[in-house]
Amino acid sequence: MRDSAVKMLNDGINPESVAEWKAEQQRKAEDEYLLLSMLGAGGGSHINQSDLDVVAGHPTTPKTPGAGVLDAEVRLKDFASKIEAGTAGSEAEIVHRAGMYAEPGYGVFETIRRDSHQRMAAAKGLNLQELNVLDDGAAHCRAGSFTLSCPQCTAAGWTAIGSLPDVGLRSCGPMCRCHLIFRIAPKDKPT
Ligand SMILES: [Zn+2]
Ligand SMILES: [Zn+2]
Repeated sequence: MRDSAVKMLNDGINPESVAEWKAEQQRKAEDEYLLLSMLGAGGGSHINQSDLDVVAGHPTTPKTPGAGVLDAEVRLKDFASKIEAGTAGSEAEIVHRAGMYAEPGYGVFETIRRDSHQRMAAAKGLNLQELNVLDDGAAHCRAGSFTLSCPQCTAAGWTAIGSLPDVGLRSCGPMCRCHLIFRIAPKDKPT
């Protein structure tokens, strides 16, 4: 994603080069989200409609951070119009931000990975729990008006699978680098 932003800057910013870049990013995002969803589900044969709904996602609203292809589309459209208008910042900032378009795919991967654990638990009659793990290198977010912060998710400790907000739908949105780990709930300490 960075490379194509550099190419766009070298070619010169004009409506054609921006449109070409935007179309390429959208194709890459869709391709990447599908690949990651197959990885998260444990293979393409395990993909079902709810996974594809996660890939499609939803645009950001004032109350809900967006996810998936639809959100990538909204963000790309906004970014492309800023590049064209010359309000997207310096070239370094444009290249940096373009690099970030690869990141929301991670939330799609984590969401589908959890969904596939939930399906397995339901099929096997298992009582699974989840724990949020913060990334060592991440700058941790703070709680928003409508969103939990990642440190709050971790502070919840081991909790029933599906009870934490999806990675990518917390205060830090698509920048989230957390991951969930799972275990079978201990029989002596039900939660
Ligand atoms: Zn966060
Ligand atoms: Zn996080």
